[in-house]
Amino acid sequence: MSTTIEKSGIKLNQEDSVFDIYADEWGPEKIVYIYEPRCGLRGIVVIDNSSIGPAIGGIRMTPTVNTQEVFRLARAMTWKNALAGIPHGGGKSGIIADPRKLTPEKKETLIRQFARGIETLNQYIPGPDMGTDETSMAWVRDEIRRSVGLSSVLGGIPLDQVGATGFGLAVCAEIAQEFAGIKLNGATVSIQGFGNVGQHAARYLTHPKRGAVVVSATDLAGTVYNPDGLDVEVLCQLMKNGQKITEYDAPGTKILERHGFIDLPVDIFVPAAQPDVITEENAHQLKCKLMLQGANIPCTTHAESILHERGIICVPDFVANAGGVICGSVEYHGGTKTAAFQEIEEKMKENTHIVLKKASSEKLKPREAALELAKERVREAMSYRRAN
Ligand code: NAD
Repeated sequence: MSTTIEKSGIKLNQEDSVFDIYADEWGPEKIVYIYEPRCGLRGIVVIDNSSIGPAIGGIRMTPTVNTQEVFRLARAMTWKNALAGIPHGGGKSGIIADPRKLTPEKKETLIRQFARGIETLNQYIPGPDMGTDETSMAWVRDEIRRSVGLSSVLGGIPLDQVGATGFGLAVCAEIAQEFAGIKLNGATVSIQGFGNVGQHAARYLTHPKRGAVVVSATDLAGTVYNPDGLDVEVLCQLMKNGQKITEYDAPGTKILERHGFIDLPVDIFVPAAQPDVITEENAHQLKCKLMLQGANIPCTTHAESILHERGIICVPDFVANAGGVICGSVEYHGGTKTAAFQEIEEKMKENTHIVLKKASSEKLKPREAALELAKERVREAMSYRRAN
């Protein structure tokens, strides 16, 4: 496979060198830098592997996003989409900007400009990610007619509103409970990162059908902890009002610092914020039995090995948080919300079961088992591509 690098001639930041990325047998097929000095747009697109179909992956807008991060996320999408069984390859993009510091007009300008920059990149279908949402996707669609995660008025299934990824995490927990030796009904849950994914995961996990209890929730302001359970709707309302999570006030609740979640005794831990939150320095402190990786790459490789040795079942990101992309795929192909939720439930139950069963019978880490399965599927798709 050839690797094409289109670069505008600028270095986007210190670490941002194309030489940081080595192509392997899977990709990346393309790395594209988009630079527009008049509006200050600095963007990165990585199409990792499109053998199964056009790559679907989100646009991340953060001040620190760089080529390495986008490439790692794009590769994770290759495996996630293959494992989820949707007809799409893996890609991702990043816009280097802090959405909290932008006016709405400035954010719209950056996103529209970015969309025009990817207009001819037909092998990439953008969706929402950290810092972007369905409004951003509406701007992209207005510019280039190509995006997923749209509002219902545009015929989309607003995955952040309906909580497709959070729903997928809850479905995943239904299957993983048996492998982790816990009962979901009554299981205690800690959620780190109380944004779209974290809030919906909390809602679906605590739904009476599943009966889990959220005892800890963390966001930028800190951690709130109550061993008897937190009121998820009150927490969500605080976030909706733009208040701090630490303003939650109920008898028996403790306010801890942001990292205070790390040694809380819980059954299930859901990281749903940023990459590399769990490292070899703090992995030994976690006291959960099951980790459902809502965020992408929330654990370093070394940390995941430590957790595995400690008997903690880690359902890896590209298995656990596939609900969003399954929903995006159903939307892209004209399906309804009901069809999307049915497909998430069916595919995620099946995939979680296959992965955890293979991991347990072959004594592999769940990530290794999942990777083997995803690679088999991508390898087969690649075998149908023209080689000369
Ligand atoms: P979001 O921006 O809505 O939420 C992230 C939350 O984490 C925010 O509330 C933010 O304040 C908080 N946060 C950031 N840094 C933190 C820190 N250091 N400590 C504690 N909290 C922190 O983003 P999201 O859409 O919920 O995505 C979260 C993660 O899930 C990302 O890794 C994303 O790639 C991944 N993901 C999202 C989706 C989706 O459907 N939105 C799908 C798959 C994966």
